[in-house]
Amino acid sequence: MPTSTLTVLSGASRGLGLSLARQALAAGHQLITLARSELQLDAPQGAHQHLQVDLASAEGAQQAAKALQALLSQTQAQRYVLINNAGTVDPVGQASHLLDAQAITQALQLNVASVMSLTAAFLQGAPQDAQRQVLNISSGAGRKPVSGWAVYGSSKAALDFYTQTLKLENPELAVCSLAPGVVDTDMQGHIRSQSRDQFPNLNRFIDLHQQGQLSSPDETAERILRHLDSPAFGQHILDDIRHYE
Ligand code: NAP
Repeated sequence: MPTSTLTVLSGASRGLGLSLARQALAAGHQLITLARSELQLDAPQGAHQHLQVDLASAEGAQQAAKALQALLSQTQAQRYVLINNAGTVDPVGQASHLLDAQAITQALQLNVASVMSLTAAFLQGAPQDAQRQVLNISSGAGRKPVSGWAVYGSSKAALDFYTQTLKLENPELAVCSLAPGVVDTDMQGHIRSQSRDQFPNLNRFIDLHQQGQLSSPDETAERILRHLDSPAFGQHILDDIRHYE
């Protein structure tokens, strides 16, 4: 019999997250999703539950963590997977222009602090004797600085560091902070709409798009779920899906 899996996935309403959600359901996972939007997925009765929450606010993250813990306590599976995928690239701009404290705080809350709250809820709610995996969707921008992405890069570098600490504290847990490559989502469209003076790398992203070099969300999700299923998952805490088939 295949292992029964329960997957918790943030940012499931669009882009990479929506592809991951659909494919996880198609693979027979029970699914708990989180996003600000409503989300109806084609799922067997009772297989999908959605939490509509704003993870860019501390209150939203707190509520979501509480609700997640309660939902997890009502579930039964042999394997539990948490995918922290929700994220924002905003605010984009040169360091000298980053005056919007609220936008910075919201980005750090969504990209880092909410991940910490959801992960704590997951670790407390998912049975310790089950197989447990935590996947944080990171970015190459957290490993090499990109002009105009001081906030985004700092948040993903913090996410990488958090993931390393998580592993240190929980050696039995399979954890990974994974860069997904350049994926054709709303986020990439938003990146291409930035001004060249605030984001000097603009042409690179326009060129990648024009040359058809972005990977599709479906193809990336397929590779990520295959990686989660493989014994290689978690062997490298900081990883990149482009290293795998
Ligand atoms: P996307 O198309 O912009 O989708 C973002 C997802 O996050 C949506 O489902 C959105 O749902 C959710 N989200 C955004 N703000 C939220 C909030 N305040 N509260 C709860 N959910 C929120 O992004 P994507 O390209 O799929 O990116 C997915 C992940 O991959 C992100 O962590 C991103 O940093 C990373 N990544 C992407 C690329 C790329 O090329 N696309 C490259 C490297 C890393 P709602 O709007 O419904 O809330």
